[in-house]
Amino acid sequence: MEKATMPRNLLEKSSRILLVSHVQPDGDAIGSLLGLGLSLRAKGKSIVMYNEDPVPASFAFLPGADLIVQDAGDISRFDTLIVLDSGDAERMGNKAAELKKIPAILNIDHHPSNTEFGTHNLIDTDAASTTVMIWRLLKEMQWTIPGDAAWGIYTGIFTDTGGFRFGNTNTEALSIAAEMTACGVHPETVGTNILGSYSFSYIRLLQKALASIRLCADGKLATMTLTRAMFEETGASEEEASGLVNYARYIAGVKMAVLIREKEEEAVLPWKVSMRADKDIDASAIAVAHGGGGHRAAAGFSTALSPDAILNMLENQIQSQRL
Ligand code: 5GP
Ligand code: MN
Ligand code: MN
Repeated sequence: MEKATMPRNLLEKSSRILLVSHVQPDGDAIGSLLGLGLSLRAKGKSIVMYNEDPVPASFAFLPGADLIVQDAGDISRFDTLIVLDSGDAERMGNKAAELKKIPAILNIDHHPSNTEFGTHNLIDTDAASTTVMIWRLLKEMQWTIPGDAAWGIYTGIFTDTGGFRFGNTNTEALSIAAEMTACGVHPETVGTNILGSYSFSYIRLLQKALASIRLCADGKLATMTLTRAMFEETGASEEEASGLVNYARYIAGVKMAVLIREKEEEAVLPWKVSMRADKDIDASAIAVAHGGGGHRAAAGFSTALSPDAILNMLENQIQSQRL
């Protein structure tokens, strides 16, 4: 890891800052944009918060979510790019090559697969979320955390720990979350918007997803497959599919769950694979071997392999580890 004083100097020097997080943003991607972006704005910096994809409806309630743009305009006007919650530069999306031309790139992330693509890299694989790392940075700078930014910081912790349940839930994550409630965050508002307000199209997709679950490898591997037809029939969007894999993950005895999803548009790599693994399996290593990335317990990749071939590969992985 780089010296802790490094980002401080960079942030103090920078004046026109573009912040970006990964495509198909989750709560940590949106939360880290808002947590750092709104804090820099409160310090009088000129900032733009950008994501290639729109803010998912369940995060639209967050203060400042309406400031996140899908078009950053003329990139050449920025002196600094801050890339958040992204294991590699390509996670920024189609504009990645252009964005990489910005002179200073601060890469803040907690994925073990991070490629250290920045001019400055702040990586901590032990941080429960990228927003935990943003909280630490703000404390180190001795900046007051603005009330609107606190919602983003809390949300990144809440979603990346699966609502304070996953293995990355630790004392630091819980105490930062508690501190954010003292800054004005309402846990019930976050919980209700993110976990408790389903569209009916999502529930229809859930019906099909549950019907598609199969167990293999002696019940250790559970799979779920979603085709384009299922999205068309239900009217659900790709972003709504992201949490479905957990239904397969939480079947007793299952060590790894996989959601194989056909992408909405014609693509060279038409299948998106999302893996969730228990502590005995390193899903990140499997994802990296197929051009993707992620964490030990949650990782993904895109592929041209057929769903059957993907399952064969995963079944072999599990059998070879004799779990
Ligand atoms: P999900 O399965 O929810 O899409 O992603 C789980 C984790 O794996 C997240 O941390 C996400 O950032 C990472 N991940 C998913 N797909 C990819 C991918 O194609 N490339 C990389 N580098 N990481 C991915
Ligand atoms: Mn993320
Ligand atoms: Mn994250």
